[in-house]
Amino acid sequence: MHKGLIVQKFGGSSVADVKRIQNVAKRVVSYKKKGYDLVVVVSALGDTTDELVELAGKINPEPSEREMDMLLSTGEQISVALLAMAIHKLGQEAISFTGAQVGIITDSSHTRARIIKINADKIKEELSKGKIVIVAGFQGVTLTHDITTLGRGGSDLTAVALAKELLACECEIYTDVEGIYTADPRIERKARKINAITYDEMLEMASLGAQVMQARSVEVAKKFNVPIHVRSSFSNNQGTLIIKEVKRMEDVVVSGITLDKTEAKITICNVPDRPGVAAKIFGELSGAGISVDMIVQNVSHLRQTDISFTVKKAEFSKAIKLAKRVASGIGAGDVLEDVDIARVSVVGVGMKSHPGVAAGMFDTLAKHKINIEMISTSDISISCIIKRKFAKTAVRALHEKFGLSK
Ligand code: ADP
Ligand code: ASP
Ligand code: MG
Repeated sequence: MHKGLIVQKFGGSSVADVKRIQNVAKRVVSYKKKGYDLVVVVSALGDTTDELVELAGKINPEPSEREMDMLLSTGEQISVALLAMAIHKLGQEAISFTGAQVGIITDSSHTRARIIKINADKIKEELSKGKIVIVAGFQGVTLTHDITTLGRGGSDLTAVALAKELLACECEIYTDVEGIYTADPRIERKARKINAITYDEMLEMASLGAQVMQARSVEVAKKFNVPIHVRSSFSNNQGTLIIKEVKRMEDVVVSGITLDKTEAKITICNVPDRPGVAAKIFGELSGAGISVDMIVQNVSHLRQTDISFTVKKAEFSKAIKLAKRVASGIGAGDVLEDVDIARVSVVGVGMKSHPGVAAGMFDTLAKHKINIEMISTSDISISCIIKRKFAKTAVRALHEKFGLSK
């Protein structure tokens, strides 16, 4: 009996070695035998992408983004071919494709390209022949035939976009944990699996460091209402559903704690306190394609201010060079750098209607003698920048404080 189409995505750890690839093949085939059509998206084996990034850095510390995409996209091409072979060995028909081959068309912003459209005819044609279609995650192609990648963790986006395009009845994201937890289960052993979470909360958690789902993929899922099931490739347990609305009698105040160690802080000291200065600094940074995250300005009585901001570590060296140039141009003082920071955040939709979360967070950090260097808030989250050495302590303390522990 024909049961509809499922998109299944397997992350790097799920295909890290021969046994795991065979394990994935078995699972895929078992779904095929139940009567589903299957489109399978795969990431590069294990830590391949990180290793390729490191390799490139040894050749050239500032590699061309186009060539990075050429390099990184090879990782996923290896895994799709191997998975197809593993499925063939089990006696099923399967065919693997790169992103370009299945018409995942993107813009030309290399290393973080956006999907413009998907020409899914080829996938549909192969599905109609009864084949399992395997697609390389994380990659696309421009209209002028350059290979692009969709940002780190981008296989999630490939899966969600294909699920939308092919009107799949399910989009399953298989990973190395059993679902979305109240905190990274590798940091907090007492973290609990969440049965269902809204797009908004997941988007916030993903943006604030929970790399279990790529933030952009959640954004697309939300926009097109694609339900996602995040689950383990090592068990058959039910994982976490990411959906539009979770019916709870009352909103939980805090649903999770996240940690992000991918940022670094820059401080420009003694900036003249006059109109237009911030515009100059941040205008130059954005002109260079650097996105700035948190910003804090301390006004002194001497008509001078210190301005601190955070940027992604990957853009840090570019940002610091630029900040030094702008600082001398506007007559500011020293430019200080701090790469040993971490952002710890508390996320929850219930925060909107329950005051006291910020106070509770600050109080908990204070009790653990953790100094807060920067603060930022959104409707449903509060983040603090702290010294990186306190990161795990902070996550565990906040997890306990907000009653999330098992
Ligand atoms: P994959 O290779 O399957 O894409 P990732 O490494 O991208 O896997 O994401 C899975 C990892 O995300 C887990 O191993 C876990 O350590 C981490 N993680 C961080 N925050 C969370 C969270 N709140 N819930 C579950 N996992 C989380
Ligand atoms: N292999 C890519 C990465 O490591 C894409 C992915 O895993 O989703 O970022
Ligand atoms: Mg991932």
